[in-house]
Amino acid sequence: MEKIATALTIAGSDSGGGAGIQADLKTFHQLGVYGMSAITAVTAQNTLGVAGVYPLPVEAVSEQMREVLRDIGADAAKTGMLFNAAIIQAVAEEVRAFGVRKLVVDPVMVAKGGAKLLLDEAIAALKQHLLPVAEVVTPNLPEAECLTGLSIRTPSDMREGARAIHALGVRNVLMKGGHLEGDVVVDILFDGQAFHEISHERIQTRHTHGTGCTFSAALTAELAKGTPLVQAVERANRFIFEAIKTAPQLGGGHGPTNH
Ligand code: PLP
Repeated sequence: MEKIATALTIAGSDSGGGAGIQADLKTFHQLGVYGMSAITAVTAQNTLGVAGVYPLPVEAVSEQMREVLRDIGADAAKTGMLFNAAIIQAVAEEVRAFGVRKLVVDPVMVAKGGAKLLLDEAIAALKQHLLPVAEVVTPNLPEAECLTGLSIRTPSDMREGARAIHALGVRNVLMKGGHLEGDVVVDILFDGQAFHEISHERIQTRHTHGTGCTFSAALTAELAKGTPLVQAVERANRFIFEAIKTAPQLGGGHGPTNH
């Protein structure tokens, strides 16, 4: 019998198919990994924006995680939209209980259109409960600013921010520089000792819906397959670069990257 690497996404559903659970499962599949999901909230949205957010009861999230982890198991897992403090705490408990070590935390906070995907009250819980059990956290610049209270505008600010986030107890920080000004994007990986930088040219497009979800899912898939972290980050970077470059025209707004 053939073996396949397995990955679990704990995230919100995007009815438009471009972000959240849908983007994660498509990405796992594209990278040859068996995908599973624990849905935290259902969103009603399309390329024009988020119309509604419906969080699930905490027990529904815990139970989905328990059922897949106790039977199938996950070589790696990721979190996306978690919405509230109670869900975050429950997710951290199950991660601990099942000893999930390769956990990628994408600290999803606000959709590009402005809808809140994480309540303000939940940011403290994310820092206190989830970061200490994560292998890597993948903030963009606004998320990193929110986690640290720092103003982050330059690669040098990013290194300072990465140190501050690492001090919260996460093993590795991958800060994404997509919000930097200029034609070159710099992503910074910090493991508590050394910085590893990846630069690439910026692609001008409005089809970037779900880019963060897709990137963190690609990273999770690579970790599930046993790829070492630096190489997994490089591969996830190439994957998202190609996805953005080849994003199709869908809908009348901010179209999806993943396809
Ligand atoms: N909706 C859901 C359910 C998500 O998980 C995410 C991920 O960040 C988004 C929307 C964000 O979409 P956007 O890339 O447009 O900010």
